[in-house]
Amino acid sequence: MKGSMRAAVAQRSGEPLVIERRPIPAPGPGEVLVKIHASGICHTDLHAMDGDWPIKPALPFIPGHEGTGVVAELGFGVSQLQVGDAVGIAWLHDACGHCEYCITGWETLCERQHNSGYGVDGTFAEYTIANAAYVVRLPHDCDFFALAPILCAGVTSYKGIRETEVRAGEWIAISGIGGLGHLAIQYAHAMGLRVAAIDVSDAKLELARSLGAEIVVNANDGRALEDIRLGTGGGAHGVLVTAVSPAAFAQALGMVRRKGTVCLVGLPPGDFPTPIFEVVLKRITLRGSIVGNRQDLSEAMAMAANGKVRAMTEPYSLDQINAALDRLRRGEVEGRAVLDMTLLA
Ligand code: NAD
Ligand code: ZN
Ligand code: ZN
Repeated sequence: MKGSMRAAVAQRSGEPLVIERRPIPAPGPGEVLVKIHASGICHTDLHAMDGDWPIKPALPFIPGHEGTGVVAELGFGVSQLQVGDAVGIAWLHDACGHCEYCITGWETLCERQHNSGYGVDGTFAEYTIANAAYVVRLPHDCDFFALAPILCAGVTSYKGIRETEVRAGEWIAISGIGGLGHLAIQYAHAMGLRVAAIDVSDAKLELARSLGAEIVVNANDGRALEDIRLGTGGGAHGVLVTAVSPAAFAQALGMVRRKGTVCLVGLPPGDFPTPIFEVVLKRITLRGSIVGNRQDLSEAMAMAANGKVRAMTEPYSLDQINAALDRLRRGEVEGRAVLDMTLLA
C-alpha cells in the first residue's frame, strides 16, 4: 500500500515520543500489514523508552505491543489470513519456530524471538507489520478498543496466575493493581480463586475491591503483611507480582503460604533480597513468567471476548500519547490507557 502514516517514535532514550510521518511499510514474505484501530499502553513501553533493561532497543523505534486492527495487505505466501480479517498484535512478533522452546510451546523463551515495539516497530502507529503466524485472530464484530489490553496485560496476567498453580477456592495475592493487576483480579475470579490485592494507591485498592478482591491492603501500611496472613489463614497459596517496584518483590515473599509460589511478572530495574532460610524451610517456589504463548493468548482473548473479563480503559488519541505515558509513569491510570486510532487530536 502506498502513502504515509502517522506514528509515535522514540528518538532518544528518556525523552517523550515524537509524532512523525513515515511511509506505510510493505509486508515481506509471511508478513501482513495491519491497520491499527486501537493500542494499549503498557508499562513495558516506558521501560523501553527509558532504556531500563540490560538489552536496549535500537533507536529510533515505534513502541507498542497491544495492537488490534484489520489486515490491510498480505505479504508473499500468506494463505491463513485475508484482507479485512480482525487480528491482534502482541509482544511476541515472531520466534524461530524450531528450537527446543518453540517446538514445546515455549516460544516466549526462544532466543531468536523478536518483540513488537522493541526489536521491531510496534503498534503506536496507523499501520504496522505483523508476522502472520504470530497474530491472534479476533471476532469479526469485536470491540477493538476493549480487547487491545488483552494482547499483553491480559495474557500475561492469565499465564502468570496459572504459573502460581493456585487451585480453585485457594487464595492468590496480586501485588500491583495497574494495567496487568486489574485484569489479573478478573481472571483469578473467573478461575474460582479468592483474591487479595496490594497496591500503594488507595484509588487502585478501591478499584480492586469493586472487581471482586476480598482483601485489599496498602503496601505502605505497616500491618500489610499481617493483614494478608490473617485474612488468608496463613498466607496466600500464590502471589503474582506485577508492581513496578523492587520493594514489592521483597514484600511478596512475606505474603506467601508454606509450599506456595511467588510468580514474578513486573520488570522494574533492580533486584531484591531473598531470605534463604524462609524460602528453604517453607519450600517456597520463586518463578518468573513472561507473557504467554499463542495458545495462552487465544484462551485469554476468548475469556475477554466472552465477557468474563473486561479491561477498564482510558481513551487517548495518538497526539495525546505523551500525556497518557506521563499518567502511567505517575501511577494515575485506572486500568489501561488505550490509543483509539479513530480519534483525531
Ligand atoms: P502499571 O503502571 O499499569 O501498574 C503498576 C502498578 O504497580 C500500579 O498500580 C502501581 O500503583 C503499583 N505499585 C507501585 N509500587 C508498588 C508497590 N510497592 N507495591 C504494590 N504495588 C505497587 O504497569 P503495568 O502495565 O501493569 O506493568 C507492570 C509491570 O509488569 C511493568 O514492570 C511491566 O514492564 C511488566 N510487564 C511484564 C510482563 C511479562 O511478561 N513479565 C508483561 C507486561 C508487563
Ligand atoms: Zn525458537
Ligand atoms: Zn506489555
